[in-house]
Amino acid sequence: MRLSRYFMPILKENPKEAEIVSHRLMLRAGMIRQQSQGIYSWLPLGKRVLDKVNAIIRDEQNRAGAIELSMPTLQSAELWQESGRYDAYGKEMLRIKDRQDRPMLYGPTNEEMVTDIFRSSVKSYKDLPLNLYHIQLKFRDEIRPRFGTMRSREFMMKDAYSFDLTREGAEHSYNKMFAAYLRTFERLGLRAIPMRADTGPIGGNLSHEFIILADTGESEVFCHKDFVGFDIPDERTDFDSVEGLQAIFEKWTSLYAATSEMHDEAAFNAVPESDRLSARGIEVGHIFYFGTKYSETMGAKVQGPDGKEHFVHMGSYGIGPTRLVPAIIEASHDDNGIIWPASVAPFDIVVINMKAGDQACDDTCELVYAALTKAGKDVLYDDTDDRAGTKFATADLIGVPVQVIAGPRAVANGEVEVKDRKTGARETMTIEAAINRFVA
Ligand code: ATP
Ligand code: MG
Repeated sequence: MRLSRYFMPILKENPKEAEIVSHRLMLRAGMIRQQSQGIYSWLPLGKRVLDKVNAIIRDEQNRAGAIELSMPTLQSAELWQESGRYDAYGKEMLRIKDRQDRPMLYGPTNEEMVTDIFRSSVKSYKDLPLNLYHIQLKFRDEIRPRFGTMRSREFMMKDAYSFDLTREGAEHSYNKMFAAYLRTFERLGLRAIPMRADTGPIGGNLSHEFIILADTGESEVFCHKDFVGFDIPDERTDFDSVEGLQAIFEKWTSLYAATSEMHDEAAFNAVPESDRLSARGIEVGHIFYFGTKYSETMGAKVQGPDGKEHFVHMGSYGIGPTRLVPAIIEASHDDNGIIWPASVAPFDIVVINMKAGDQACDDTCELVYAALTKAGKDVLYDDTDDRAGTKFATADLIGVPVQVIAGPRAVANGEVEVKDRKTGARETMTIEAAINRFVA
């Protein structure tokens, strides 16, 4: 991508409305724009990061055996009247009427709709277990939308829903998502700790929130500090192994970890003082087992091996991609801007032409840009005629992991500079060596 033909509206000044660093940096880097309170456009740079986050989430959901579909944002109120949540949900639900005066709503979550899909076609235990998910916009009319896309009114959610014949089956489905979440957050460059959580309006009795420790987090959390160093289930994890996944679940719930709603002072005080971590955190994921709550109210039954009808046991599993993007920035930035983990960086490499219009600089940059692009890298080429200082500041701000810098002096020697955004380390090398470093 040539920056001269791209759309990346950088802000020079610090936006006054932004209270936390991630919101400030997302606005300054031209990633998002607020359209009305708590409702955002994702501009091209932001969209790239969001897509990469979603791709990792999708990959790990698929690995764990969940199946993707897509459900609409607008839902009929009828389904919610069946479950009893139409009245229970309160003011967070945006209610609308269509031209026939039928009550509709913008979905805040999808338990009812997915249960309706399930009951319309699954009739036998032989079709279980089943886990259906989608990545879709939600709307919750939050009383206090703030911190940019961290707590917005319209936001994206990956929500998965599992269906099993028995409670034991449902626990295995829960453990699959538990392990998938550990892997997902690790791949996003984050350390998320599962904490016992309140089941809230969804109801049920088994629930964990996945929390990232950050000073700007809205939740108050308490946990054993050893979680910070625990190993993540690796690629060879067998998601069909009931014992294997139960062992992962037990290990990751063996030490104290709870949010303030579930906090047990006495149990926390039993942890040696030097191992106690009381901090603030950002909730990036939330998983629930809620048994037959929806299947009973909505009549989702299957025939069991005994020939009788059974209400299915369900769970739901959410992750917030549009919250994860700022959460990643909270965890990874410096005074100059964002430092993206390579897995979600909007571009892999930025090529900086320090003197656009200078034949040797132009030729070198074109060569490097073409070679890296051909090798399958996402490359941003800063071919604008801005001053070199402005280009360096922009490259640092948008946080692309590697910068290849071509200035007249180095280019005259057949060389470029390669800078690592995270460490700031710079290395001068031949043009060929620079290309080979990333192509190999
Ligand atoms: P919170 O306590 O932060 O309001 P929640 O418990 O209401 O979250 P869930 O219903 O469990 O959230 O939704 C699943 C995930 O969706 C959350 O873990 C979070 O990552 C994301 N999410 C929820 N509400 C918002 C929001 N207003 N803006 C952005 N992301 C959100
Ligand atoms: Mg909420």
